[in-house]
Amino acid sequence: RHQRHTPPARHLSRRPDPHALLRRCRRRFHLCRRRHAHPTSAYFRRKRRRHAQPTSAYFRRKRRRHAQPTSAYFRRKRRPRRKHRPVATATRSPRWGTLERSGRCELCGAAARLRCSRCRLTHYCDVDHQKADWVSIHEKICQLLIPVCTSLPSLTSEERKHRVEQLVKRQKYIIDLTSSTAQKFIFDGKHEKALPAALHALRFSTKVYGSSSVQLVPAYILLAEACIGVGNLQQASNYLSQAQWIVLRSPDCSSAFQHRLHRSFGLLYAADGNFDQALYHLANDIYLASSAFGLKSVEASGGYFHMANVFFCQNKMDIANSLYAEVTDIWHTFLVKSVQTQEQIHKLRAEKSPFTEDKEVEVSEDTMTEAQQAEAIQVLNAVLDIREKAPKQQPEETARVLHALAMLYYLFMDLSKAYEIGMKAFDLLKQLPQQESLEAIGYLLKLIDSQPSCTK
Ligand SMILES: [Zn+2]
Ligand SMILES: [Zn+2]
Repeated sequence: RHQRHTPPARHLSRRPDPHALLRRCRRRFHLCRRRHAHPTSAYFRRKRRRHAQPTSAYFRRKRRRHAQPTSAYFRRKRRPRRKHRPVATATRSPRWGTLERSGRCELCGAAARLRCSRCRLTHYCDVDHQKADWVSIHEKICQLLIPVCTSLPSLTSEERKHRVEQLVKRQKYIIDLTSSTAQKFIFDGKHEKALPAALHALRFSTKVYGSSSVQLVPAYILLAEACIGVGNLQQASNYLSQAQWIVLRSPDCSSAFQHRLHRSFGLLYAADGNFDQALYHLANDIYLASSAFGLKSVEASGGYFHMANVFFCQNKMDIANSLYAEVTDIWHTFLVKSVQTQEQIHKLRAEKSPFTEDKEVEVSEDTMTEAQQAEAIQVLNAVLDIREKAPKQQPEETARVLHALAMLYYLFMDLSKAYEIGMKAFDLLKQLPQQESLEAIGYLLKLIDSQPSCTK
């Protein structure tokens, strides 16, 4: 044990290292300084500066002590501190809006986490619902909602009155827009897309007219028809019950609403397979529509069409055929009239080209609405499909449908399609013995040819 502590012989033989001695002296002196230094001495000040972080209390104190009242230090200090923002917890998608913590989803009423970044007024529970609303209706009404949903500071009573009038006008415009959009989607067979638009129509109708007004019936009917198309019959029946309840409580309800309600019930029962009930309601629909709009009106044709579909499902082909013929007939007559009106407009334009415009407005008032166009396309194409697939061909009837479709496309100015279908009808009729309608189709083809932008 003793031997282990004796230094090795080599060390003893060397002279002491002068550098090591110096180092040892310096360390001792250093220790000495530290031991004796005052906290405010230069030693500690130097030490503190050497070790301080730029954000440490040392520098902060120093900056404050030396800062001028106009310096950046004080300016920064005077600026109010920003509030801490809540941290996003959900995935954030820049295109579909920003995160939102309050509000309810526009479509399902669940707690909302998203908000439309354009209008900043509508809320959604997730991106799917926001996209669904956007493609259905929100794209069209996003900017319209801003003046409707934001409240401005109150003014004098007169100005306030004027503002309320304007607000109701705007809300009614939105009701029209949402209803016609939903209706168009339903005729196009896009029931999923129709749902949000119909929902908005109901919401705005409730805002304007109150929750028990007859004016809510069209919105309920749209919702119900969209639900039937999607296959949600229970929900459809709920909506229709609400509409029926309103109609029953208001005896002065117009037959325009009543016939639409019967038609929806007919569609609901037909979708459910209850054909007897469906036929009962559709018969009511036809009766009410004919008494309100006329026996051969376009409004009544929908009832005939759906009734024909029910008979078609029951395989009662004779009745179905005659009803389809009735539908074709109504649309054919209507379209002939529309083409004549269009011709008149063209003539007036050609005669008094740049000057008087007042007459033109008068004539163009009874052109087809967008919903009527969509209905005509749906109905006529469906009838054409049935006629072409029928085991017993009726070329005359098929030609009549084709003629109606050609006129329809001519009115849309889809001239190449109109010409193609018109030629088909022309070829079909040429093979028949009696050629009465050949003349009419020939005339239509000439009309299509005469259009300047004809592309065949
Ligand atoms: Zn939702
Ligand atoms: Zn928006």
